[in-house]
Amino acid sequence: MEKLPKFEVIGDVPEKEKADYIARKRDIFEKQERILPEDDKLRKEIENAEYTKTPEQIAILNFINEETNRLMKECGVEPFDIPIENYHILPEKELKKFFDAQSSGTYSSRAYAIGLSSDLRSNLLWFATVAFHESLHMKAREVAQLYRGEEGKYKEKRYRAGIKVFSPHQKDINGNSVTHFSGADEGVIAWQEKINFSKLLELPELAEERKEYESEKSEIFRSRISLEKEIPEDEIICVNQDGTSWQNIGYPEQRKVLEYVCEEISKELKDKYPSKEDVFREFLKATFNGNLIVIARLMKQTFGGKGLRALGMMKTGKNNIVNNVLEMLRGMRRDTLHESQL
Ligand SMILES: [Zn+2]
Repeated sequence: MEKLPKFEVIGDVPEKEKADYIARKRDIFEKQERILPEDDKLRKEIENAEYTKTPEQIAILNFINEETNRLMKECGVEPFDIPIENYHILPEKELKKFFDAQSSGTYSSRAYAIGLSSDLRSNLLWFATVAFHESLHMKAREVAQLYRGEEGKYKEKRYRAGIKVFSPHQKDINGNSVTHFSGADEGVIAWQEKINFSKLLELPELAEERKEYESEKSEIFRSRISLEKEIPEDEIICVNQDGTSWQNIGYPEQRKVLEYVCEEISKELKDKYPSKEDVFREFLKATFNGNLIVIARLMKQTFGGKGLRALGMMKTGKNNIVNNVLEMLRGMRRDTLHESQL
């Protein structure tokens, strides 16, 4: 039986509006041609730019679908399948134009689609890692909010995505919608990407990339890059022919904070969570089911009443905020440890 996403929607609007919204979303999910622009010229441009997927790419995407579904099931969440048609391989220019993508991979909740840069075709291991990351974003809990716009029309805004919480009607100083847990959300996805990397490497479709990855030349490049750029060797996905450019697992700063959080929670609650990976599972579960209650409790027990709020402040960039969050959490942890000794 076909498995579909949940299409969750909230908002103080008539039930019919919600039902129409869900029907529209389902239609978009199942018929991806609906996401193409109505403008003939633009539609042709995008259709012509899209690459046909190779049998290897299709096999990899099918594996990713099964693997992410396995994780959902393990976390007690009903899985669903991402149709192959919902992945779109496009040159960078079109990817940016159509998906507003800032990187080589992107997930669009509006289109229920994943955009992948044609550059990824140069190394299928890189392709697989990015596709895995974006597929996890798609399988994370997604909730939309409907509201009545100024001209009386009903509009939609994202309300939840994984553990990310949107405050759609609140704007920051740059005019962007306020979000919470955006950094932690990426941290969870990228951590799971790292866990799955070795599994991807074992795929028969990636045998050639694996040979290259395990070659002496590649190993030397990786250890040099690791030393020079302070990137753990096992986080380097691929290196080009002369060792001058490489790809690595993303969001290292956010993962570092998340790892610290999981380690401290594990120390605090050793019986229930013997390792940081056991705590991480709770974060993954929350990504799939959107329920932050367990996380809130663990954060409170380990970092005090303001711990969750501090983690929620972490953003996705490489800015100082990430370090500030880590320092804040360290301070809170010292205080809770101190209090427990009194
Ligand atoms: Zn991401």
